[in-house]
Amino acid sequence: MKRILVLLLLSTFMQQCSYSQKRNKEAMSTEKKAPVYSNTDTSKVQLPDADWRKYLSPDAYAVAREKGTERPWSSPLEGNKEKGNYYCAACGNALFVSDTKFDSGCGWPSFYQPVSKGSIIYTPDRSHGMERTEVQCGRCKAHLGHVFDDGPPPTGLRYCINGVVLDFKKAEAAAKAFDEKKGQ
Ligand SMILES: [Zn+2]
Repeated sequence: MKRILVLLLLSTFMQQCSYSQKRNKEAMSTEKKAPVYSNTDTSKVQLPDADWRKYLSPDAYAVAREKGTERPWSSPLEGNKEKGNYYCAACGNALFVSDTKFDSGCGWPSFYQPVSKGSIIYTPDRSHGMERTEVQCGRCKAHLGHVFDDGPPPTGLRYCINGVVLDFKKAEAAAKAFDEKKGQ
């Protein structure tokens, strides 16, 4: 009788153990996007930092929510020349298209124009003894980087963006076909 009880207790304990391990794994996953993530919904998003911490990798969180800066030349998107769209990695908001990306040599993905006026929020930034303009996602206010006035034509602007807060999606055949049709 005593032995059965011990066995029972042991198996209950082991079940709890594997259950909590599974829970921890889920909580630590940074692959999971926030439920508000959408490439088409433009309605404003406001989540507490505790929620963003669940859905963003530590590096993305440090940039998006704490206005950090990734190391220059650390983003695989810096030299990316593929055709496609760049979205906010936090909320999925469309930010830039590959046609407006250029080689700035500054070490971060650079663009001369956002996808639309409302896709970005501009805020004066006087931190670190510099006069800069901070750019944030127009939908979730994630910090993206800064914009400078030494970019190429036609805008003369350089949007210097942390790659870790960008999601790149290759242009799909359907999108290309749509553009070609529009151009006729
Ligand atoms: Zn966003």
